[in-house]
Amino acid sequence: MKVSLFGGFGEKGRTSVGIETPGCRLILDVGINTSGKGADAYPKVDAERLRRTDAILVTHAHEDHVGALGWCFANGFSGRVYMTAETRGDMREIVAAYDAVSGRSSLDFDSIETISPGARFSIGNIGVSTGRSGHIVGGIWYALSDGDRRLIYCGDVVPHSAVFEMDPLPSCNALLYDGSYGVDPIGTDARIRDILAWIDAHPHGCLLPTPLAGRSLELLAALKGVVAIHGSMREPLNAQVAEHKWLRAGMGAELAARIAAARDWNEKAALPDCPLLVHDGMGMTGPAAIALARAGEERHPVLLTGHIPTGSPAERLLKAGQADWIRLPTHPTLPENQMLLRGCSPQIALAHSCSTQDMEKLRVAFPAVSRTLVTGQEFTL
Ligand SMILES: [Zn+2]
Repeated sequence: MKVSLFGGFGEKGRTSVGIETPGCRLILDVGINTSGKGADAYPKVDAERLRRTDAILVTHAHEDHVGALGWCFANGFSGRVYMTAETRGDMREIVAAYDAVSGRSSLDFDSIETISPGARFSIGNIGVSTGRSGHIVGGIWYALSDGDRRLIYCGDVVPHSAVFEMDPLPSCNALLYDGSYGVDPIGTDARIRDILAWIDAHPHGCLLPTPLAGRSLELLAALKGVVAIHGSMREPLNAQVAEHKWLRAGMGAELAARIAAARDWNEKAALPDCPLLVHDGMGMTGPAAIALARAGEERHPVLLTGHIPTGSPAERLLKAGQADWIRLPTHPTLPENQMLLRGCSPQIALAHSCSTQDMEKLRVAFPAVSRTLVTGQEFTL
């Protein structure tokens, strides 16, 4: 099994992995890099390889994992696409929003086969199994086997989310795991305590930019007082919490009540005197683009809780000292990745979605199994 790293290794964004056996060629995820310019925004895969690819398997509806799907069709891909029904429902807007060049126009919706978490199926001589990722409604991990060796590609996972369930990973020979947080050991409970203390210190209102899918629900679960959301978020958030199979027991009803109690906000109104959730998390698209600009002009407190791409409005505010940042974990901490590696005992482990410096630190943490290959390189399993 040849494994080609098309994106997301030694960098955050454009996550994409090529798998090739004598009988089959697959690509796992096709993300956009929101910090990348020109070709560096897209996976490092040529038209010839895209033409020869049998199928693309997508883990979840975030731009760094699915944003380049239209671009793949525009550049020669004509195979099947696999994803969950929830990802299919959520990803159309993401592809259009983050890839203005080829996003919406090139996407072939008829090519998409929807799968359920836990599904087992074959593509050519590769057996595929899946499980819930704990990261977002509709998010799954993939395990691929050619009958001899098994590789697991996590995509983004959260082993101990307060909101979502993650299914255990099977044993494997190689694990491509979510290294987004490098060796950060600080868990969710401690981070939420810090976020709540920051909000208490800003009692006249604050802005919390957040991706619509995933982290918005984690924030709603954590914030116990009055909150406001952009009006356009209500329906998609309700749709997410209606999907009980992705959630921890009891979280569906609790989150539905939190959404029902949230105040509506829109751009015509003044910024509210309570925490306001707007999407996306970086001020690049959605109501966050306007809300962040307003907050900057009015010196309204802003708390960023996720990834901040280079050149994004969120980064500009942070650099200007007009925003603070406290991570709300939606990727594994170091102890969680230690637990995952112990559980599936791979001979090779390779982190995606982090810098080469973080890869080096993770190599020290997992010296026996770590590889530090980057985008553009490949290895044989
Ligand atoms: Zn994600």
